[in-house]
Amino acid sequence: MTDTVQERVERVQGAIAGACARAGRRVAEVGLVAVSKTHGPEAVQAAAAAGLTIFGESKVQEAAQKIPQCPGRIEWHMIGHLQTNKVRHAVTLFRMIHSVDSWKLLEAIDRACGEDGARMPVCLEVNVSGERSKFGIPPAEVPGVLEKSAGLGRVQVAGLMTMPPFDPETENARPFFARLRELRDQWRAETGFALEQLSMGMTQDFAVAIEEGATWVRIGSAIFGERPKREKGAAGVGEEGE
Ligand SMILES: *Cc1c(COP(=O)(O)O)cnc(C)c1O
Repeated sequence: MTDTVQERVERVQGAIAGACARAGRRVAEVGLVAVSKTHGPEAVQAAAAAGLTIFGESKVQEAAQKIPQCPGRIEWHMIGHLQTNKVRHAVTLFRMIHSVDSWKLLEAIDRACGEDGARMPVCLEVNVSGERSKFGIPPAEVPGVLEKSAGLGRVQVAGLMTMPPFDPETENARPFFARLRELRDQWRAETGFALEQLSMGMTQDFAVAIEEGATWVRIGSAIFGERPKREKGAAGVGEEGE
């Protein structure tokens, strides 16, 4: 692949605009998180030069090393599994956390982001597919977590996130995205939480996710190129936690 980051960013933005047009949505409704995990500061700089401002990382350690090497007006989002013992560090690095997969983690984030008075927007990660290898809160438990979270003053549950099962056939992801939106509508009616953010869609399936209502797409390979393959056990594609 000889195309530049600039060209890839333009292609991704074009595809986002195309999906928005098909769905009758405005491009401004869909935020792009450029997932820079495994890629160095030079790659981030190139994407920032191409106009991107929001970058996603899935490991606290890696982000802590990279972020100081990436000056400029960049906003960092946490998109991977977060261990409670790394929360204090995480809240100093990230402006939003997409991957809150337990009540315990939500509470820990609330405790940790107290000091400077800023509220931390988060998405609850929902295990829509029920795959055992996936992180995420089982749908049946989400309303309970939402109700308890009303008592937390610093964390703001802004929406939901999901990862469909890995499938090379992009259309097979659609029912999982549609299901998350339906669950959102149902929980909105039941709990009064607006849950405006739907973080769903990656390189493989972001166009479908936008058609189904995504407000955040998290895109890595289409912008930065393929990541080096890692030997990993049960965790599915993209579920690279700490
Ligand atoms: C790695 C990762 C992405 C980006 O994956 P691509 O297929 O490279 O676009 C998105 N979301 C999460 C949670 C990830 O871990």
